Amino acid sequence: MIEFRGVSKVYDNNVKALNDINVVIERGEFVFLVGPSGAGKSTFIKMLLKEVEPSEGSIVVNGTKLEKLKRNEIPYYRRKIGMVFQDFRLIQTLNVYENVAFAMRVVGASAKEIRKRVPMVLALVGLSHKYKMFPNELSGGEQQRVSIARALVNNPQVLIADEPTGNLDPDTAKEIMALISDINKAGTTILMATHAKDIVNTMKKRVIAIEKGEIARDEEKGRYEHEN
Ligand code: ADP
Ligand code: ADP
Repeated sequence: MIEFRGVSKVYDNNVKALNDINVVIERGEFVFLVGPSGAGKSTFIKMLLKEVEPSEGSIVVNGTKLEKLKRNEIPYYRRKIGMVFQDFRLIQTLNVYENVAFAMRVVGASAKEIRKRVPMVLALVGLSHKYKMFPNELSGGEQQRVSIARALVNNPQVLIADEPTGNLDPDTAKEIMALISDINKAGTTILMATHAKDIVNTMKKRVIAIEKGEIARDEEKGRYEHEN
């Protein structure tokens, strides 16, 4: 469902962020994207969202060649991808319910659909009882649950998580990983960029390691670091 063919990225300042990346991620896979800071992970994710254009090569997502997408088609394309960030990125002036509902409003869902779907995803992330709370009244783990609910509310085929446990204590991080794992078991493809070595080593999922813009390792049931 996600394919990079000979993808390279040279930024305007001549930094080569990615060099000839070839990779296929099938529907329903769970993939960790690891590598040191500056390796090219964010560039990889931004190209999937069509926020950054490849300098060379081609990216196909669910049969759509991203270079063929017209400007007015990009918002529709992005709706099929749920995004979760390290810093949650919730709207502070909206309560939990409204943060999630907002993601449906912007894609033009009807009031009826919103009333049905928002309580469903809040139940899924275990936050039904906190629907009236504001982000600053929630713990980090709860805020991340809201952001996961928001990412899922439009039923994306892929969930991309960029360091989703980076601001959480280890126990809370484990709970969030259990939730992401459940979402994967329900069929959503997961791509998660992370520096959380223990999480990667515990979960035994596919690991794609990027180093200096190249795929250094791509292993089923991989580990965070190369085994000697
Ligand atoms: P593009 O090549 O995608 O058009 P730009 O070079 O115009 O990207 O930069 C986009 C943004 O990223 C700018 O705001 C720029 O300041 C910022 N930026 C520039 N260099 C770096 C860097 N090394 N790391 C992260 N961001 C950078
Ligand atoms: P990672 O997410 O693994 O830390 P990035 O994809 O952010 O790596 O960065 C890869 C390389 O590209 C780095 O050398 C970074 O400085 C450079 N880079 C990232 N964004 C930009 C940009 N907008 N303009 C210029 N250089 C960039």
